[in-house]
Parts: sequence; C-alpha cells; structure tokens
Amino acid sequence: MKRIVILGGGESGAGAAVLAKLKGFDVFLSDKSALKPDYKALLDEHEIAWEELQHTEALILNADEVIKSPGIPDTAPVVRKLIGKGVKIISEIEFAGRFTNSRMICITGSNGKTTTTTLIYHILRNAGLDVGLAGNIGNSLALQVALEPHAYYVVELSSFQLDHMFEFKADIAVLLNITPDHLDRYDYTFQNYVDAKFRITQNQTADDAFIFWENDPVIREELQKRTLGAQLYPFALERTGKTKAFIEQDQLVIKTLNSFFSMPQTELALQGLHNTYNSMAAGLTATILDVKKDNIRQSLLDFKGVEHRLEYVATVRNVQYINDSKATNVNSCWYALQSMKTPVVLILGGTDKGNDYSEIESLVNEKVRALIFMGVDNRPLHAFFDGKVADISDVQSMEEAVQVAYKVARPGDTVLLSPCCASFDLFKNYEDRGRQFKDHVRNL
Ligand code: ADP
Repeated sequence: MKRIVILGGGESGAGAAVLAKLKGFDVFLSDKSALKPDYKALLDEHEIAWEELQHTEALILNADEVIKSPGIPDTAPVVRKLIGKGVKIISEIEFAGRFTNSRMICITGSNGKTTTTTLIYHILRNAGLDVGLAGNIGNSLALQVALEPHAYYVVELSSFQLDHMFEFKADIAVLLNITPDHLDRYDYTFQNYVDAKFRITQNQTADDAFIFWENDPVIREELQKRTLGAQLYPFALERTGKTKAFIEQDQLVIKTLNSFFSMPQTELALQGLHNTYNSMAAGLTATILDVKKDNIRQSLLDFKGVEHRLEYVATVRNVQYINDSKATNVNSCWYALQSMKTPVVLILGGTDKGNDYSEIESLVNEKVRALIFMGVDNRPLHAFFDGKVADISDVQSMEEAVQVAYKVARPGDTVLLSPCCASFDLFKNYEDRGRQFKDHVRNL
C-alpha cells in the first residue's frame, strides 16, 4: 500500500489526511507543534495515525509521497532529509486536485488574494452555483473533495502552496500582481518568488483562462519570456488592444468576445484603486463562467468586504477610523493611502521585514497629517521619516495609539491603521491587532 505522510496538522494537513485515508492509502500525519483538538478528533474519527510535538523520522522517511503544509519551509531538517532521499513532496491542493474534476478558479498575487477570492465566491454563490471556498481561506480543499464535493471551487493560493504543485490545473487562474514578499523563503532571489507565482498558469490549455493585471511591470516582463497555453484576460485602468476589463467614462467595463458588461465605478461596493482591480478580476471570472450580468452587478454592489482590509470601523467626532491591519507590507499601505480622500493620521509599525518606505513617501507627504509609530522597535521608521513629517509619535500599545490618534486628528480627517509590517511584536497576529484597534475605537 502506498504510504502518504502529511507534515503539518492544520486545516490543510488534516483535510489531506482524511482524503488520503478515504482513497485507501496508508496515512500518517506528523506535526512538530500541538494539534488543535478539532483536528485530533477528525483524525481519530477517520482512524488516521498521527503524532504531535515531534517528527519521528522512522515513520516519515519511509513515505512514498509527502504532503507538506505551506507553513513548513524546505529548510526544515525533516524536509531536507526527504528531499535528500528523493521523496516527492506535494501540497494539499495538488493532492486534492487528483481526485476531482470540478472547475478550479485559483487566485494568487502578492496583495488582494483574500479580497478577490471572497468576492468571486460571493458572486458565484449568489448566482446559484454549487461552489466551495478553499485554499488559504475557508476550509481545506481536500476535505471538501472528500466529504462535501462542489462543482466549482474558488481557491486562494499562496506562493508556498504553488511551490509544491505540479500536475494541478486551474481552469481559471487569476494573478493580481507581484511585488517582493517572503523573500526569506526564496533564497532572497525575487525571480524564484516570481516563478512560484507563475506556477498558477502551469498545465493550462486553450480551454482555460488566465486573468492578470496588464500593467504590473513584473508580470509584463515575465510574459515576454513565457508562452502560455491559456486564453489571456488582461485587466487595466486604461484599455489597450487586448484589455478585457477596464475603466471608461467612470464605468467598469468588461468586454470579452461574446459579452459586454458595464456598471458605474461609484456603485462598486469596494472602493479604492486596488479594489477596482480586484473587482475587475472577479467580474472577468464571473463573465467567463457565464454568470448573468444582473447577478454580477448586484454582487459587485452589495459585497460587504473582508474584515481588516480597509474596513470602516466608526466615525467619532467627525473623524473616520479605518482598520487595514492586513496591510503587512508597504505596497498594501500604498494602496490604502492612495484611496484616502481626506487628511490622514496613519498608525504604522510592527515587525519590519526590511521595508523600503520610499514607496509611500510621496503619498505620506501629500496626505498624512501625523504618523504614529507602534512597535517594539521603531528605529527603522524614524530612520526614514524623521525630518520628513512634522508630527510623529511613538506608542507601545494599541490603546495608546488610538488615544494619540484621537488627540491629533482634526474633524474631517481619517485615522488609518495600515501598518506596513507584521504584527508579531505586540500582537498575536494581524487579526488580533485589527480587533484591538476596533475595540479601542469603539470605546472612544
Ligand atoms: P492577501 O490575501 O493577498 O494578503 P488581502 O485581500 O488580504 O490580500 O489584502 C491585503 C492588503 O492588501 C489590504 O490591506 C489591501 O489594502 C491591499 N490590497 C488589496 N487588494 C490589492 C491589490 N489588488 N493590489 C495591491 N494591494 C491590495
């Protein structure tokens, strides 16, 4: 019997284990950390052997194939040994793809994945399609394939999942943008990260679609080097000969060979330039799937957005508070600032991944009244912004940040939490950071 070992017992690993077991493999799951009780129960229910708090090599290195959680880097000792032995390592998505013929709509990019994935799911579900949400968000794809199959899946893919995908094919692939991120996992070589992102197009044929941002400099350059099998659906603000979604006279227009759709940009539920792109990608996906125009329009109009992504919190004394805690890199903060229509008090800081703040410098000059640095080590922020912005404060907690913001903001301003940084110095994660922000704002 073929032995499948699963490394990492989170959502994707536990799901992969259940699918593998149901397909008759000899399955073993190993996690170096503690497993969540829910996942233990799921594994036990399916009589799957597992271990936690250790990797017992004798039970792992004898695998015929390994399904690795995207969170575990290739440099982990046990993974190194597996690679050394030539054991094939795949991702949960690759594995699940072997056991389903459902249509796969896959979304990747450096920023905007979750927003766009959720929006596409919202449109398809409202249009009455039998659709599942999977990948980085939602439930494990493998578990859904095993226990509650759907006709369509909308799958958010990170570069780490794509790294271990080989035969899997996306019927519709969406590549939103590529900016440097996670370079620590790619030998500090940007091209490796770009190559990972482009795996979303692998195995595509002329029956498939590739949706991408036409003006992304990295994607453009990469397309010069590659021949893709899929039909191309570029989107951009301005139309060129090939653009399939664009803005014309304040309308979002989607124009494909056999369809024409338009709606006023002001009616889009998601505002801001970056979200216009996300709406274009989602609208194109729905158009390719022949969703009725009225359904597309309605869903683009009534989408509620995703928590911690430019999320409106409250207006206190005529100052708006916006939670963009998910902005963990400089590029996403750029888009947040870009979409602001009032003077801004910007709260930023946290675990700096070697950020280059020059990307937001001109927007800060143009729109920011005051900066509030919130982090254990604010030195990189001071090194860049001192002398450039007059009003700078240092804080060590969210409570303090909100208090200072409340004092310096003037009526009509916006207080924006868009930190450019990871959250692990002061918070559990970006969700915790965003929730603390909302709680303190609501207590003002
Ligand atoms: P991801 O899942 O790729 O991390 P999210 O949808 O969670 O992306 O959004 C993360 C942050 O990136 C948000 O705070 C938002 O301001 C910004 N963002 C969203 N869409 C885009 C886009 N298309 N281009 C650039 N930045 C974006």
